[in-house]
Amino acid sequence: MREIRLDPLRKEWILISSDRGSRPMTVAEKKACPFCRGAPETTGKSAPYWLPNAFPMLSPYEKKIHDENTYFKKIPAKGYSEVIVESFDHQADLCDLTAQQLKEAMLLYKDRYVELSKQSFVKAVLIFRNLGKLIGVSIEHPHSQIYAVPYIPTVIREEINSSKKACQICATLSKNDDRTLFEDDLIRAILPFSPRWPYEGHIIPKRHLTSLADASDDELAHLGKAIGRLIGCYNHIFEEKMPYILAFHQTPTANYKEKIHLHVEIYPALRAADKMKHWSGAEVGFGVYTYDFLPEDKAEQLADICKKYKDVPIPSKGIPEPVALRCALRGIIFS
Ligand SMILES: [Zn+2]
Ligand SMILES: [Zn+2]
Ligand SMILES: [Zn+2]
Repeated sequence: MREIRLDPLRKEWILISSDRGSRPMTVAEKKACPFCRGAPETTGKSAPYWLPNAFPMLSPYEKKIHDENTYFKKIPAKGYSEVIVESFDHQADLCDLTAQQLKEAMLLYKDRYVELSKQSFVKAVLIFRNLGKLIGVSIEHPHSQIYAVPYIPTVIREEINSSKKACQICATLSKNDDRTLFEDDLIRAILPFSPRWPYEGHIIPKRHLTSLADASDDELAHLGKAIGRLIGCYNHIFEEKMPYILAFHQTPTANYKEKIHLHVEIYPALRAADKMKHWSGAEVGFGVYTYDFLPEDKAEQLADICKKYKDVPIPSKGIPEPVALRCALRGIIFS
């Protein structure tokens, strides 16, 4: 059973799936990585490639819900859950890829965004990536995901609303500030003015691109390289593999009327060596985010690292996982 329920208090949609967690992995799935070369799932594919998610939150085949209840509102979880695998290398994160591989990955994200936007029931195409067991990834092989959902999520709605009169991203880019991490003629990477994560990074095309569909091949190449570079630099803050979440913020679908400026937000999970940034009462209970540093100091520290590592690949192999991760795993094993 899959459906989407509206929280009557907050007016936020929640994806509900009763069979996703209970479906056991098959023996074949447990034994071998489904994303490596040679896996049945990858037959005939070359990297980067996309696949339907084997554990989908959304499906294009969901039927209309006959619902007599007028107070509790729910709609079918009609949409798409896809996986994008950027490389056959089981250990290669985006920073390990060449500039050419990164460009091809961006072209594939763009293709899927444009293709999924064509379905009339799809209201937003969400491209995101989770990396590291600390974040909760179930398949170790680095990969990105797409949810094509039948509603516009709150975060994107808020960004649309704030940019109705004037684009807030263009306004941000026009200010001289001391939180720039690096830039070239097409892209700027910044630590935002009011970050929620200690080393949060935003990668922004300088042209007012409203989605990946607007981007030229050149802009996609620069964007891909900047993403790889920033992720590679995160691994050198503590010389530990940085677990992170990455999200593409853009106009919800290619043809949606209300546009926002494309940017990529990356939320790295560590606040110090072996210490994870945990969200607690204020953040989870109220959306009151706290930041224990001066953002400008963190930006300066990160910009210094980015100066050292200019070009991808910035190999992540050999960089250890944070001890926080090992403790977490021990906790699971012995509990
Ligand atoms: Zn693999
Ligand atoms: Zn703009
Ligand atoms: Zn954003």
